[in-house]
Order: sequence, then structure tokens, then C-alpha cells
Amino acid sequence: MSFYPPKRTLMGPGPSDVNPRISLALARPTIGHLDPEFIRLMDEIKALLQYAFKTKNLLTLPISAPGSAGMEACFVNLIEAGDTVIVCQNGVFGGRMKENVERAGGTAVMVNDAWGQAIDLDKLDAAIKANPDAKAIAFVHAETSTGVRSDAQAICKLAQDNDMLSIMDTVTGLAGIEVDVDGWGADAVYSGTQKCLSCVPGISPVTFSERAQSVITNRQLPVQSWFLDMNLIMGYWGEGRQRAYHHTAPVNALYALHEALTILREEGLEQSWARHLRNHEALKAGLTGLGLSLLVDEACRLPQLNAVGVPKGVDEAAVRQRLLQQSNLEIGAGLGELAGKVWRIGLMGYASNETNVRLCIHALESALLAQNVPLNPGEGIARVDAAYASSDGA
Ligand SMILES: *Cc1c(COP(=O)(O)O)cnc(C)c1O
Repeated sequence: MSFYPPKRTLMGPGPSDVNPRISLALARPTIGHLDPEFIRLMDEIKALLQYAFKTKNLLTLPISAPGSAGMEACFVNLIEAGDTVIVCQNGVFGGRMKENVERAGGTAVMVNDAWGQAIDLDKLDAAIKANPDAKAIAFVHAETSTGVRSDAQAICKLAQDNDMLSIMDTVTGLAGIEVDVDGWGADAVYSGTQKCLSCVPGISPVTFSERAQSVITNRQLPVQSWFLDMNLIMGYWGEGRQRAYHHTAPVNALYALHEALTILREEGLEQSWARHLRNHEALKAGLTGLGLSLLVDEACRLPQLNAVGVPKGVDEAAVRQRLLQQSNLEIGAGLGELAGKVWRIGLMGYASNETNVRLCIHALESALLAQNVPLNPGEGIARVDAAYASSDGA
């Protein structure tokens, strides 16, 4: 029997709702991965990714595997046995970076910040001074486990000023908030398709600066991962060279990525960031109307991922279950230290829209009332209305 998934609205930490235009692109006929028309598509995808990342880096391409593979590609290509890497951790994903450094034979010097806080630049600076020979600084731009944005520009500058490479995770950042790879001088950057690009999961866009590329081509030993070795991948994706078979590209998934990037280009990067912010403001207003509060300070809050405190006495899993069963609405649970303490409400990509904000506030109100949480019925939606009315006027 064929599998038919339920129709959900995805407002969790990813995947996000896929734009129907992207689903249609996915269904187009499969062609060969060395077909001249496919090569043309690959070139367009590279150019569109350069637009999305704001970079001229030649080594900009999609890795044929999810965001975690983009992360691993950055570490296995740049880090060799004996290297020291300063790793900033303020949530789940920094912990995975540490794993990656250590499995590549390196030493991770950890700079830890509380979950829900941005990376502390003074602490990072102190770690740099204490480890002047470190090869790289790795950090998460948009921490999906907490909803925190760190100051990527300042961190990349610290790396540059100290002659270290910067490795940036912007899986959740890309298309949702400003990412400026060249302007910030970031060296190795990876993202994902299923967050603010609203594409199907399973692809990881990456980009490497010239400096990073020369580190990769001048390694002492070959990259330990055959599949993720950028020296080999360049042979398939590379500029102006005969394209050689490396692996069979996920042809249809790349149609989908091309469509997602085309949609981003049509809307415009700045417009996409502004839309994410506008819907976040309305969601925040609605949550406040329900008596709920956000975990993260406004100064470093991600508009596309909202960590919302679970009120005392509320069964947070029952709320999520009710949203899913009654409204086909998925929101996320807390991860790690924040498990049981927060819900994570995503407003990513195609899912960042007015209809979803209203759906979420209505459904949450009813779920909270069902648990006898004292609130003023209708206040949440009234505040959503007011927020949209004021941003329409702006
Ligand atoms: C989702 C996510 C990843 C991992 O991406 P996958 O596609 O799930 O492998 C890495 N880093 C951050 C910050 C993420 O949000």
C-alpha cells in the first residue's frame, strides 16, 4: 500500500512547511546527473547559493546529505590530527561540533555559555588569547535548540584578526535572518534546506572562502571521509573542469533546492528577513496575550525560532499532542537542558505567514484553557490583529 502522510502545518524546529511549488519541482522527470541540462542546473544552483549566502566564493555547493553532513564536511576537510579548535557552545549544536573536532583527531577548547544566551565575546576573546595557536573558531549562528542568534560578524572578525579560520553553522539562519558570508569574512559555512528555505530535508548548502579552500588543498593527509572530501567533490561540482562522476547527485532533490532558491530570489533576501521578523512580532504579541513569555532576550532572539516558557503546572507534552491531533499543527519540544521547560515554535520560510500565526495562537489558547490555565479568551488573537495592523501601517 502507498504511504499518504497526514497534512500537517509544521511550526517546529524543522522541517518546515514545503512550498507547493517546491513539491511540484520535486516531481519533475529524473534526468542523468551528467546530462548537459543537469550541469546547467548545477551551475544555476551554485549562483543562487552564492546569492543566498552573499558570497563570491567559488567553492559554494550543496552537499548531498542533511545539515549534519554539512557540519561534518567543514570539520573533516579543515581539521587534521593535532589541530586545536575553539568551539563555542550555547546549546545542542555546539556539542556536536566538539564531537566533530575530536573525531577528526583535533582538540576542542570549549567556550560555554548558558542555554538561551548569545555567545559571550569577552569569554571567546580570552580563549583566543589562551590558545593563540588554535586553527579555527567554530560557532552556531542561529541556535535552534534555544532560539538564540549570536553575533556572527563579530566572531568572524575575531577569527580573522587572530589568523584563525571561522566555521559557522547557519542551518537555521539562512534566509531567516541576515547572513553575509563575504561581508563577515566567514571561512566555512554550512546550512540546511528544511529550515528557512522551506525545501525538503536532506541537502546541505556549504560555502568555503579562498583561505579555507587553500587549507583543504594543502592538507598533509587526505581527508578521512571519502564521501565528504571536498577535493573530490570539486571534481564533480567544480568550475570550468570536466565534470567527473563522484556520486549520483540526488537529482530531484536538487530540482527542489533550485526552486526554493528561485523563490527566495524572487522575494529578495532582505524581504525574506523582514517577513520573518514581522510574523515573529505578531506571534510574540499573541503569546503575550495568552500570558506566555519568550525565553530569549529580544537583543539576541531569532524571529524564526521562538522558545516559549511552559507555564507552571502545564503538561507540555499534552499541549503538543492536542495541537497535533486537533489542529494538525506541529510545534517542537525543548531539547537537552530545556526539555520540558519550553516549546519551540518555528516560523520558518514558507511557514512564516499570517495564517500560521493565527492558527497557532488559536490552538494554543484552546489547549491552555483545556488545562485550566487562567487567561483572557480572545486576548491573544486581538493582539495578533493589532500587531499586523500596526506593521501594515508601517
Ligand atoms: C537542524 C540543524 C542541524 C542539523 O541539520 P540536519 O539536516 O538535521 O542534519 C545543524 N545545526 C543546526 C543549528 C540545526 O538547526
